[in-house]
Amino acid sequence: MATEQEFDCDLVIIGAGLTGLSLACWLLDLSRQTNQTLPRVCLLEPRIEYHNDRTWCFWDRESHPFRELITHRWPHWQVSKGARIVSQSSNQTPYAMLPAGEVYRHALACIESCHAFSLRQGVTVLEAKESADSVLVSTTAGQWRTRAVIDTRPPESSCLNQSLGFWQVFTGYEIHRPGHGYDEHMARLMDFQPCERHVCFVYLLPLDADNMLVEWTEFHPGVELPDCRARLDAWLDEQNIGDYTVKRLESAALPMFPITRSRDPGRVIKAGVGAGWMRAATGYHFATCQRSSAELARQILDATASGRWHLQPLQARTHWLDWMDRVFLRALRQHPEAAPDWFLDLFAATTAEQMARFMSDQPGWRDAVSVAKALPTGPFLRATVL
Ligand SMILES: Cc1cc2nc3c(=O)[nH]c(=O)nc-3n(C[C@H](O)[C@H](O)[C@H](O)COP(=O)(O)OP(=O)(O)OC[C@H]3O[C@@H](n4cnc5c(N)ncnc54)[C@H](O)[C@@H]3O)c2cc1C
Repeated sequence: MATEQEFDCDLVIIGAGLTGLSLACWLLDLSRQTNQTLPRVCLLEPRIEYHNDRTWCFWDRESHPFRELITHRWPHWQVSKGARIVSQSSNQTPYAMLPAGEVYRHALACIESCHAFSLRQGVTVLEAKESADSVLVSTTAGQWRTRAVIDTRPPESSCLNQSLGFWQVFTGYEIHRPGHGYDEHMARLMDFQPCERHVCFVYLLPLDADNMLVEWTEFHPGVELPDCRARLDAWLDEQNIGDYTVKRLESAALPMFPITRSRDPGRVIKAGVGAGWMRAATGYHFATCQRSSAELARQILDATASGRWHLQPLQARTHWLDWMDRVFLRALRQHPEAAPDWFLDLFAATTAEQMARFMSDQPGWRDAVSVAKALPTGPFLRATVL
């Protein structure tokens, strides 16, 4: 039995990326709102420095600790294939962007300002071993004994159901091109490109009259990943964008696969992409990460008060939405060539608010019916049974 003095902290958060940092900020905000005592939290993170390595985009519908930091909002968004364009508009739920650099700066300042929190950088966790009354976390910088652990490390490949989904591979440039000519109020979410066997599209967000973020994205089932950078360069040449300067580059291969995860309560639970919070059917994660971090922070504050540290892993989405997504992924794997028309039909058959709820993992049953009605019966029926 571990005694009080033997605990280095109450909670270890493995990984201080989006989920770890969001959880810390939610804990701080909620403890202030509810006057609950904060646990002593230690965040363990391998990276020594934070860079503006990505942008988080999502539909701006809910409050969260980073909302004030949103740099861009687009009240209009569109999907297109050649001359066919489907657009939606909403001032209530615009498409929004948060640069990671802003999130990191804000979260690190919150952690720094709170005596109950500490962030240890340059530390890689090797193992978290649970016993009846504590967890022993072994790292490259020694051991931490704690009451509970939230593990936000990325998923191991053995947890990904790779027969049912894709790698979402993309390379993006933030470009400076004076007077680029793209409508500043319109987010171009998917401009589908002719591709032989894969879903390929250009994602283009005008940041102002002279700057934009443009990405080439592909959905790939296998391990042979494409050279998206070369395709993006070729597309930019084709568009005669002219002289531009690349200010920043971002790229990734996101696992759009359903994830096997434990639902058992315990002292060590997973959170973030590794816990399936990122939606396999879309690759969007930010909005659900905020909602789930808030729920987890409430559990942790209650555990601090009660001393009962068996935490319950979160179910990020309803079971029926997970089921719909599995059918959608299976249908996409079977008919990648049909994907552009399906996406366009989907946007054409729904309102902007419905789409914003659906993409934020919070559709009501009417939204789900509209989505289901927009998709062709044959391929989707086959995908439910095959
Ligand atoms: C370039 C890019 C753009 C994206 N754009 C969007 C977007 O627009 N909208 C959206 O909703 N989602 C987006 N995503 C997807 C998702 O939101 C991000 O990947 C997000 O950062 C995932 O959060 P996370 O906390 O689960 O993982 P991460 O942010 O990757 O955090 C995991 C942390 O664990 C740490 N770690 C790893 N191994 C160990 C170890 N052994 N010990 C200790 N720590 C460890 C890592 O260093 C990292 O800091 C994007 C992803 C990328 C890569």
